[in-house]
Amino acid sequence: MLEIKDIVVRYGRREVIHGLSLSVGEGEVVTLVGSNGAGKTTTLKSISGLLRPVSGSIVFDGERIDTMQPHEIIAHGVVQVPEGRLLFPEMSVTEHIELGAIRAREGGRSYSERVDWIHEMFPILLERRDQKAGTLSGGQQQMLAIARGLMANPRCLMLDEPSLGLAPVMVDQLADAIRNLHETGISILLVEQRVDLALRLAQRGYVLETGRVVLEDRADALLEDPRVKAAYLGA
Ligand code: ATP
Repeated sequence: MLEIKDIVVRYGRREVIHGLSLSVGEGEVVTLVGSNGAGKTTTLKSISGLLRPVSGSIVFDGERIDTMQPHEIIAHGVVQVPEGRLLFPEMSVTEHIELGAIRAREGGRSYSERVDWIHEMFPILLERRDQKAGTLSGGQQQMLAIARGLMANPRCLMLDEPSLGLAPVMVDQLADAIRNLHETGISILLVEQRVDLALRLAQRGYVLETGRVVLEDRADALLEDPRVKAAYLGA
């Protein structure tokens, strides 16, 4: 469904992604693992059109998206939930949910069905609907960021470090939400510092080092891989 072939990405003259290929199948959860600076965020930004690869291609559902503008990519159903959430502290929960729908993909659930779906998944957002985003807890803000992304009606959702800064109980809720989304058939590309959690949620994973894929396999195999254990699982 999402097919990235041999992309090269630069910041100015500095090349940080050196020919990276990866794919996400329909309804699949795929994780991208790697230490700080490996290029995970850069890869997600390239897919969502915030950065433009200098070579290679990104195809979604048979169409090149690496030549499209970010809003067109969203309208095709590829949506990124950015690291650090990027909410507007003075805007309410409801306003964020409305914002998420502005460039939504057509088809799928209607606007009101999406709102109901989000409230069912994250009841706290219904309870706090009039509250300003800046006054929510870290976990609630993360839920709101995901809810905003879901309002765009995605077929492929990219989550960048969703568990960052969350208390353990919130991490459990987040994991439940990701499982829930997987069951609805949305494809997920997950970047996550908590590698064990990511590999338990995903079916497949890629290990990135300094802008290259060094390992790719089924998630259960990566969990048992001695190189992954040594580098990312504290074994
Ligand atoms: P992290 O978990 O720290 O976000 P990451 O794997 O997501 O790591 P990237 O943020 O994609 O890594 O960064 C990849 C490389 O690109 C790093 O060497 C980083 O210093 C560099 N880089 C990231 N953003 C920029 C930028 N705006 N300008 C120049 N270089 C950048």
